[in-house]
Amino acid sequence: MAYDYDLFVIGAGSGGVRASRIAAGHGARVGICEDFRVGGTCVIRGCVPKKLLVYGSKFAHEFEDAAAYGWTLAPPTHSWATLRDNVAKEVDRLNGVYLRLLEGAGVKLHMGRGRLMDRHTIEIAGQTVTADKILVATGGAPVVPEIPGREFAITSNEAFHLPELPKRIAIVGGGYIAVEFAGIFNGLGAEVDLVLRRDRVLRGFDEECRTAVHDSLKQSGITMRTEMQIQRIQATNGKAPFTVHTQLGGMFETDLVMYATGRAPNANGIGLDKAGVQVDKAGAIAVDEWSKTTADNIWAVGDVTDRINLTPVALMEGHCFADTEFGGKPRKADHRDVPSAVFCQPELANVGLTEEEARMRLGEIRVFTSAFKPMKYTLSGRQQRTFMKLIVEAATDKVVGVHMVGDDAAELVQGLAIAVKAGATKAHFDATVGIHPTAGEEFVTMRTARVEPAPSRKAAE
Ligand SMILES: Cc1cc2nc3c(=O)[nH]c(=O)nc-3n(C[C@H](O)[C@H](O)[C@H](O)COP(=O)(O)OP(=O)(O)OC[C@H]3O[C@@H](n4cnc5c(N)ncnc54)[C@H](O)[C@@H]3O)c2cc1C
Repeated sequence: MAYDYDLFVIGAGSGGVRASRIAAGHGARVGICEDFRVGGTCVIRGCVPKKLLVYGSKFAHEFEDAAAYGWTLAPPTHSWATLRDNVAKEVDRLNGVYLRLLEGAGVKLHMGRGRLMDRHTIEIAGQTVTADKILVATGGAPVVPEIPGREFAITSNEAFHLPELPKRIAIVGGGYIAVEFAGIFNGLGAEVDLVLRRDRVLRGFDEECRTAVHDSLKQSGITMRTEMQIQRIQATNGKAPFTVHTQLGGMFETDLVMYATGRAPNANGIGLDKAGVQVDKAGAIAVDEWSKTTADNIWAVGDVTDRINLTPVALMEGHCFADTEFGGKPRKADHRDVPSAVFCQPELANVGLTEEEARMRLGEIRVFTSAFKPMKYTLSGRQQRTFMKLIVEAATDKVVGVHMVGDDAAELVQGLAIAVKAGATKAHFDATVGIHPTAGEEFVTMRTARVEPAPSRKAAE
């Protein structure tokens, strides 16, 4: 049967755009649909605008530190409107870049929400198209729990467009989006309450790093409301200020509540059942190692599959799919040793296993740590420390985990991730000459393993 397209992609975000462009480059006739803005979460309301806000908020610390280096500045003031609008302009520019990328690759864009009608038919805004193969790349969306007053809360989606900067903000959640926005609003001058159910932020990351980040958030003036759950949000005549009611009758007041408690895959209402595509218990599209769903001609990549929800992973999955199905170059996405970062202030970055995972999976390990005051703050006196950790498998001497909490951790760990991916040993690290004076040289000068057992604050949850 002749189809309109060889490939139709639902969702023009990181994974969908990459897959469609590569498939078209391999000669496929490709269509794609998008119901919001081409570029997806990362470009429009995720990584990119978030990182720009992080840059904006960091100037506050730079101004403070400048004095010890001899600079005299008039007390700096900040315009949220300028930052917000400049970020929006950059997002518009990138949206245009993505539109041109699709056009240049010969991918036909259909604006509108896509829905599967059967295994080969997609409906987009009343129009029907057919395709031999289909890729679902619809991403995920923030979830706000069903509590009274949830309609007053915003999510990261709205945080980029606030009419004004709140004087006080309560950010709910302990994951990376919550701590990143806590740092942003804190740097821009808001009073920040970080409300989390657990005793520490960033569950799933290395325990010592979690503690280091948690302590630095506290140190920077953020109020850490740990082991707390919100019962309801009460507005004043339908608007701010809000009274946040917590479990056990506690309450506090704030001007804005932002939920960052999790994201759910966009797998509902897109006709998966009509095409025989099954979801897992968590509602994510179930896929095999080739990103193939339970339907033979339908694949899914990115956040909608809830594997590792990061842009470079969605790109890798989309690229592998396109090369495999249209390029005659079969390859599977490799989810091992994916580096990642949390753009809190200072940053956390890591690659490989946490200490807790390494102990569980590998048995005997050697752990090297270093904690120090960065040179930059020796003059300014800023109470900020850097923490670094290497985890080495004892039997093979391989470095299986690299972790860092400190300035520029993400930039540094990106380079070290190549070494880990290449199977570098601790001996390779030791044989590497440092660049002096840097924080990074510490990674090649850690000579003495920590005496076991580790002084872990709390067993992995
Ligand atoms: C605040 C925030 C910060 C983040 N920061 C980082 C970071 O620093 N680094 C990092 O690696 N990752 C980060 N992420 C995660 C990253 O954005 C995602 O992992 C990535 O965008 C996933 O790509 P995707 O292709 O799966 O989905 P998306 O990029 O979300 O794209 C899905 C697209 O599909 C569209 N869509 C959905 N349903 C339909 C439909 N039925 N029909 C048509 N179109 C549809 C959506 O509008 C969207 O454009 C962040 C996410 C958030 C929310």
